[in-house]
Amino acid sequence: MPATPIRGKPIADRIRAQVAEEVRRLDHVGLVTVLVGDDPASEIYIGLKQKASKAAGIDATDVRLPADISEDDLLAQVAVLNADDAVDALLVQLPLPDHIDESRILRAIEPRKDVDGLHPFNAGQLYLGRPTLVGATPIGILAMLDEHSIELDGARAVVIGRSDIVGKPVAHLLLQRNATVTICHSHTRDLDRHTLDADVLVVAVGIPRFVTADLVKIGSTVIDVGINRTEDGVVGDVDPAAMDVAAFMTPVPGGVGPMTIACLLENAVRCAQFRRNELAFPG
Ligand code: NAP
Repeated sequence: MPATPIRGKPIADRIRAQVAEEVRRLDHVGLVTVLVGDDPASEIYIGLKQKASKAAGIDATDVRLPADISEDDLLAQVAVLNADDAVDALLVQLPLPDHIDESRILRAIEPRKDVDGLHPFNAGQLYLGRPTLVGATPIGILAMLDEHSIELDGARAVVIGRSDIVGKPVAHLLLQRNATVTICHSHTRDLDRHTLDADVLVVAVGIPRFVTADLVKIGSTVIDVGINRTEDGVVGDVDPAAMDVAAFMTPVPGGVGPMTIACLLENAVRCAQFRRNELAFPG
């Protein structure tokens, strides 16, 4: 029997409706997205984030800066947005041009406004098992697993990919839910030894159909994070043939993607709640 698809859209729609309600209650939630340069993929993501924010009633501002902006000028912009009381949530779209030190920019964002959870304070909180602001994609993945009541306690979870935005944070969220977590990456030997043992397999590699059906454990749950634009359209990191092996699997498109957008909006509300002391920000 083919795997039950874990579709993101119905869950994302529900989250977006809840966000719209919270935004009405809070009266104002301000989100600023900063895009440096004109990378086409980043422009698409910023467009989706802006549109969804506005649909939920969030006051979303789209700041565009030239690709040749200096690091100091970008830091100055971040400082202005940090100080602006109307801005609850702030994200700087990655990747940044090569001449800018990304980690320096991320460290400059006020942690309460760090809607992507990439400031070392928020990343550290997650590492310490006290998630405060965690990136939208990992949060969305956990929400999808919970929606289908996938058992995580004691489960063997394998994450392929160790990026700061997906692989590492999702591995920590799974660890917090008492899964036994293995993180695989480009230096991992005998990948199949790990994946064939995985009750839950999360794939965030960025290579079209990288995980073939023979790498997937029968009856497992597969979360395909990949968004790869190919001649065949958008494809994931997992071969769709794995649907014949897994019990649950996210489709691409229509899986993790919609959840990322919805959970970003949810995080913007969370930032606003921290800033109004409705939620206690640690520290
Ligand atoms: P990334 O920063 O490029 O990281 C890719 C990871 O894959 C790295 O850790 C890399 O290992 C690992 N890797 C590369 N080749 C490998 C191999 N042969 N075997 C095992 N591991 C290998 O990518 P990312 O930002 O995490 O994104 C991954 C994918 O998810 C992309 O397709 C991206 O578009 C997509 N994405 C989707 C969403 C969404 O909302 N659905 C959100 C974010 C990202 P090393 O660390 O050793 O180099």
